Formats: sequence, structure tokens, C-alpha cells
Amino acid sequence: MNNPKELKARFPYQFEGEAISMSYSRGWFHLFSRLCADIDETLGKDKRGFQWVQVKEKFGAARVYFRLAEGVRDQEPDLAQRLTEKKFAAEAASATTCAACGRPGWIDQRSGWMLALCEKHHQARLDDTLGSIWFEEDEL
Ligand SMILES: [Zn+2]
Repeated sequence: MNNPKELKARFPYQFEGEAISMSYSRGWFHLFSRLCADIDETLGKDKRGFQWVQVKEKFGAARVYFRLAEGVRDQEPDLAQRLTEKKFAAEAASATTCAACGRPGWIDQRSGWMLALCEKHHQARLDDTLGSIWFEEDEL
């Protein structure tokens, strides 16, 4: 899956319903894509009303939020726990992954707000040549 549009076509149920905001950086997309596949497998046959609510950047790394249909958390607390662990693992991985290219990176704020980038892209941001790291409207 190369962009959010392809990802949504693969796991449509994860993107149904109302979302607060969905911002995808190019460098972190493979992490999110893998997380969606992992969650799909964890849910098994019954997708139990899983939906993404928000995908964004915060303090230099990715933050992802989901909701489960009413009752699922009470019925199966272990499932919610497992999904949350996967979410945390992907968020943690984004802190050491360049948001522009997906190579190993680290969070730095030399050139403005905190953002995980590789050396090349930290330098590009300092030189003001980084450009947009986010997917464009037609790829969503
Ligand atoms: Zn990079």
C-alpha cells in the first residue's frame, strides 16, 4: 500500500465513521500501514466496530487514536489492551523514524517544532528545502 487511499481500500471498516483529523506523513506511512494490518489480524473475523479517530503528529512523533464499538471494551478488555499495545509500539517507532523518508531518525527541534527526521532531512529543514512531508489531498 503506497498511500492512504490504497490503505482505506484494503481496510475500509477502519476508516468508516467520523474522524477528528487524519494527517499522514510519508515517512511514517509504512508504520501506520503495518499497524492497520496488524490490527486487522488481531480483530480476527469479527471487526467489532474498530475505527480510527485521529492520526496526527505530536511532540515530534505520530499519535494515533481509535475507538471500539460500544460494549467491546467491557466484553473483552484483553482485546482493547492488545490493540492499545500495538498502537503504542507504532507511536514509539515513529519517534525514531524520519517523518519525511522513513529512514532511521530522531526527534530534534533545531529548525522549529519537534519532529523526528534523519540527518539529511533535519538539514533540509534547516535549509528550508524540506517541503511537505504529508500526503496530498488526492492521495487520501
Ligand atoms: Zn529522512
